[in-house]
Amino acid sequence: MKKPVIDISECVLCDICVELCPDVFIKNQAGYIEVAECFSEYIENHLNKNGYSSLNTDDSKKRALIKYIEEDVNDIIKSCRGDCISWGEKTETENI
Ligand code: SF4
Repeated sequence: MKKPVIDISECVLCDICVELCPDVFIKNQAGYIEVAECFSEYIENHLNKNGYSSLNTDDSKKRALIKYIEEDVNDIIKSCRGDCISWGEKTETENI
């Protein structure tokens, strides 16, 4: 699965991303926005909450949930005032 990345040089610190999805977008101690290191863990926790025990490429329902999360992030990308969030390199779960 892809992971969102932030160009902090363009970030205007509007906090929309943190308000809409605080598990993925966090404000660090320096006051800058960053994507949680545990993004893939967040995905897995979200799947677990919905009754799935692990990530598996064979399960279309899991794919649908991941797609749902990606759409949430896409909505945040559209809402970002600094136009500075994008999808970055794929993570260790890229085959999901
Ligand atoms: S929505 Fe965009 S501009 Fe606003 S705090 Fe998040 S990354 Fe920065």
